[in-house]
Amino acid sequence: MGRILFWIVLALAAIALWRGWQRAQRRARMTTKRKTAVAGESMVACRVCGLNVPRSEAVVDGEHSYCSEEHRRQARSGG
Ligand SMILES: [Zn+2]
Repeated sequence: MGRILFWIVLALAAIALWRGWQRAQRRARMTTKRKTAVAGESMVACRVCGLNVPRSEAVVDGEHSYCSEEHRRQARSGG
């Protein structure tokens, strides 16, 4: 009887360990993804309002960047 209990406890411990490891893996992957998204993407400031936007989302016009198409137009029309 004691031997069966030992195996049950061992199995439960193994499952708990495995689950914890999986969770840690998932968390680590998510953190890495978030880090690369922040660190790998340079931010540019809008010329009109000064808002910082990721380069991929910014509206680039020549050497200037804008947060939106509206602000690009505003800057072009002499704003
Ligand atoms: Zn703007």
